[in-house]
Amino acid sequence: MNVIELSKVGKIFRTDEVETLALENVNMSVEEGEFLAVMGPSGCGKSTLLNIMGMLDRPTSGTVTVCGVKAGELSDARMAEFRNKTIGFVFQSFHLILSLNVIENVEMPLLYAGLSAKERRERAYQVLEQVGMTHRLRHLPSQLSGGQCQRVAIARAIACNPKIILADEPTGNLNSEMAADVMNILMRLNSEEQRTIVMVTHNEQQAALAHRTARFFDGHQVG
Ligand code: ADP
Ligand code: MG
Repeated sequence: MNVIELSKVGKIFRTDEVETLALENVNMSVEEGEFLAVMGPSGCGKSTLLNIMGMLDRPTSGTVTVCGVKAGELSDARMAEFRNKTIGFVFQSFHLILSLNVIENVEMPLLYAGLSAKERRERAYQVLEQVGMTHRLRHLPSQLSGGQCQRVAIARAIACNPKIILADEPTGNLNSEMAADVMNILMRLNSEEQRTIVMVTHNEQQAALAHRTARFFDGHQVG
């Protein structure tokens, strides 16, 4: 079964002066349980692709279907609700809330999902255990290493138990040791928990750990 299907997807960013073609005629599907790497030079449309797959953005043309649900048929509010329970995002620069401590950051999506305070605390602790971060519950992001920040961000991404994890250069800001750590966690979430993963990377060795690599150039899939 395909959990993500893109059909003839195009994305043009328009400002008053310029039009940027970020994606053109992208046809792509990702199977349930697959670990897909996405590669390509800077500016070729990788982040745009992930944002569209993850319903953070809408395409200019074409259709996006995630777990059988067509993005084009959802209002922005419904799309956000669907995204919250179906997809977890991991970003290069972590995107943690700097004024909240570790466990509060992880509880945030659970608050939107409507869990009680007690349920939020329990679930956040559980996912922080999975990434080995229960020894830093009250630390602020500024008191953590980059690798630790990313582990917390991964815990936050899986808090609502999403089927899909979309990771945009998750190791881009990490040294090789921390990067290996993050890769091991992602691979475990894929192989042991059957979560589908799409990961943008510039690292061929990391891409080789995925099941398949999609290569992009100038808004087109080239391999
Ligand atoms: P990548 O992640 O592969 O580096 P992006 O998907 O971020 O590439 O960007 C693809 C192209 O779209 C680039 O030319 C970029 O400048 C442009 N772009 C991305 N986001 C916007 C935006 N919000 N407004 C205008 N242009 C954008
Ligand atoms: Mg990018």
